[in-house]
Amino acid sequence: MSLEGQHPVNLNTLYQQVILDHYKKPRNKGELLVDPVFGKHLHNPTCGDDIEVTVNLDAEGKIADVKWNGRGCSISMASASMMSIALRGRTPDEAKTMMTAFYGMMKGEAGTYKSLGELQALSGVSKFPVRIKCATLAWHCVEEGMKEREEIDNKGGSANG
Ligand code: ZN
Repeated sequence: MSLEGQHPVNLNTLYQQVILDHYKKPRNKGELLVDPVFGKHLHNPTCGDDIEVTVNLDAEGKIADVKWNGRGCSISMASASMMSIALRGRTPDEAKTMMTAFYGMMKGEAGTYKSLGELQALSGVSKFPVRIKCATLAWHCVEEGMKEREEIDNKGGSANG
């Protein structure tokens, strides 16, 4: 009786070429070679998507590497793949700005999202509320992982004793 997952989807508009390319050839999928600075494993019960994102920072505190693993629909996988490229080289604050822009685009808020680059290919998802959770899952992994890291750092302060 539920309409979830049964919306008629226009494949031409939703599954654009960029999305399919990232789905078929996922970038940065796998494990970090070092212990991540932060990371998070999340599940989207609505669709069954399951993603873990791990992030490493360089000496300057910029995002040196983003790796992800998981399984799910093409939207969730393509978003994780594109995000892993987009976040590399950014500071955590820049990553948060990008995250806010991405969430805004997913909510269908008016604005230009040129800063998101290739990720703009996912803008059509905003018309399909059920799929928004798919597109934002990897981003929530980064957001929550980052938050947990900040909480640990704020509590610790071991370096300053
Ligand atoms: Zn999904």
